[in-house]
Amino acid sequence: MKEVILVKFGEMALKGLNKRTFESILMKRIKYRLNSLGTFAYTSMQSTIYIDPQEDGIDLGEAISRLQKIFGIASICRACVCEKNFEDITEKAKAYLEETLEDARTFKVDAKRADKTFCMKTPEICAELGGILLEQHPHLKVDVRNPEITVMVEIRDTNAYVHALKLKGAGGLPVGCSGKAMLLLSGGIDSPVAGYMMAKRGISVSAIHFVSPPYTSDRALLKVEQLCQKITDYCGDITFFCVPFTEIQEELKRRCPEEYFTIIMRRLMMEIAQRICEKEECLALITGESVGQVASQTLHAMVCTDAACRIPVFRPLIGMDKTEIIEIARKIDTFDISILPYEDCCTVFTPKHPKIRPQLSEIEQAQEAAGFEDMIEKAVAETVVKRFRLDV
Ligand code: ATP
Ligand code: MG
Repeated sequence: MKEVILVKFGEMALKGLNKRTFESILMKRIKYRLNSLGTFAYTSMQSTIYIDPQEDGIDLGEAISRLQKIFGIASICRACVCEKNFEDITEKAKAYLEETLEDARTFKVDAKRADKTFCMKTPEICAELGGILLEQHPHLKVDVRNPEITVMVEIRDTNAYVHALKLKGAGGLPVGCSGKAMLLLSGGIDSPVAGYMMAKRGISVSAIHFVSPPYTSDRALLKVEQLCQKITDYCGDITFFCVPFTEIQEELKRRCPEEYFTIIMRRLMMEIAQRICEKEECLALITGESVGQVASQTLHAMVCTDAACRIPVFRPLIGMDKTEIIEIARKIDTFDISILPYEDCCTVFTPKHPKIRPQLSEIEQAQEAAGFEDMIEKAVAETVVKRFRLDV
């Protein structure tokens, strides 16, 4: 029996004028991911993309699991292709859905006629096919309100399709339709999740990471690179900037009051990240901060950090609990990498008594007095750039 995959757009279907751009970005993403599995024909109609395998033996299960990581897709189903006559639809539906219906207790049949010239009307298709399937599976009951299985018949231009299992897509908007932003990526649990969440809104993510060798090890950097590779699953290709931060941190320790250390360090991170954003045309920063999680994530501290920013800082985890963040980290498979025990440049230099309610003016004075301009320039110049590609 010939099968196709039907991909339904999510919110994109509502976006009016932008719809075509979104649709073409989504199509590009889909083709890129499925290309290595074999040849497919793609058609797009009425907020659905039809993916039709052109060779035998293509692994459709694998195709579907790849599609489930593409933002902009609301749902995915694997459907059986039928000729546009009721006999063929019934025969195929009986065979194709046999196992699924055998395991179910309740069902209903639903139909959609995109081709209004089809000889039967929707209620007729539902009633007739429902009756035939009930005969085949006498244990089944019809439940129109809350069925376990909804058998769907779609009558389209060239073919009809029958399917029963609708899988949830990743939702959101296709990556690349909302501009570019720079993720401050640490080796922790939070920042990879933050990158995933902004990519879900269609943002192309670049990543920046600060290292302080010899205080931080090669292994620690490797871990962050692993995380970066991992989130390409959802974010697509990522340009990764690795900033040497040792000199700045040592100077900071020498020149600034210890209690301000963390905040000034974060302001300097933001400054460097913004300079790279300007070159890369990134319009915003993304961090994994959430209110109150650690001393540098109090509201006061964030006000002081934001005062050093000329572009918006997106903090998609701001109101989330750690347990909720961990749930997503597990889902996107970054959790196990994140909990590997390597040091981060922030933790190496953490002061014993950070200021929880810093005053912006005091911070600015301390930072000004220390003077970091040359060091910032140098760190930007010595930043190492790497490209992480979605592995397909
Ligand atoms: P995470 O789990 O993301 O590491 P965290 O709870 O450990 O976050 P902090 O260490 O205060 O919190 O870091 C807050 C945010 O600052 C991180 O989510 C990340 O966006 C950014 N950040 C921290 N350290 C680095 C680093 N070495 N390089 C780049 N960004 C960093
Ligand atoms: Mg951290």
